[in-house]
Amino acid sequence: MRPVIVRTVAELRAMVRGWKAEGAAVGVVPTMGALHDGHLSLVRAAQRDCKRVIVTIFVNPKQFNSADDLAKYPRTEAADAALLAPLGVDAIFAPMPDEVYPEGFATNVSVGGISTRLEGLHRPGHFDGVATVVTKLFGMTLADRAYFGEKDWQQLQVVRRLVADLNLPVEIVGCPTIREPDNLARSSRNVRLSPEARTIASALPREMAKAAGAMRAGGPVHPTLDAAKAALLAAGFDEVEYIDLCDAETLLWIDELDGPGRLLAAAWVGGVRLIDNIAV
Ligand code: AMP
Repeated sequence: MRPVIVRTVAELRAMVRGWKAEGAAVGVVPTMGALHDGHLSLVRAAQRDCKRVIVTIFVNPKQFNSADDLAKYPRTEAADAALLAPLGVDAIFAPMPDEVYPEGFATNVSVGGISTRLEGLHRPGHFDGVATVVTKLFGMTLADRAYFGEKDWQQLQVVRRLVADLNLPVEIVGCPTIREPDNLARSSRNVRLSPEARTIASALPREMAKAAGAMRAGGPVHPTLDAAKAALLAAGFDEVEYIDLCDAETLLWIDELDGPGRLLAAAWVGGVRLIDNIAV
């Protein structure tokens, strides 16, 4: 059966209050729709832990720093509902933008430090948009647990920082990245890759795995990162915005490995911006 689609905060709240009165734990999976196996893995994780699960679908204008990217972002609500139907989620919360940002909306949630690096440098305002909408979704859904993908590693760390700093009563659960057979991370933006760009895209996980292996084996950090960047450009990427080794939690750049590190990259191919990250 297709899950019920809820459009307003008032309806959502009434539904969740009923579940809570029955003692049910509530999980939320925030998404921007155009659902794929990556999103579905978060839903399954939520269903393992929580009696009631809400999937939110909202293409959040505040987290897009490019009007073109916002306009081109795929919107496939009917297909999303059909994908979720066999999983038996309890509700889809898919509000219109003015339900989330009504006339007079004036608050911005900004997580310092971590939000300014990597994606934050290249997409100014992006994490303020994410932190603001995520804070609102927690307040709207009253969820006990929220599920985020490691695919967006920096986002996951920003949300953890936000929840700790503001004492928000929600447990954040990170879930592993789901990949295609050639290891390209599943992403809603992959549908925009031409067949040629799709072939080139597989160089991203391949070169990242190679670089991570070399650094784990004690290889020098900066020459290894430079070689990975050169290999991506040689494979056909148009631009590498960054490929950096960072502390896995703070995302500060590190020059050598002395604890859990994360290799993170963003690169353009055929007009599409891809991001990925792996443990080092
Ligand atoms: P998005 O709809 O792209 O905003 O993503 C919604 C959630 O799904 C975020 O927590 C993402 O990190 C997560 N997600 C997206 N792609 C993947 C993937 N390939 N594997 C695991 N989680 C993912």
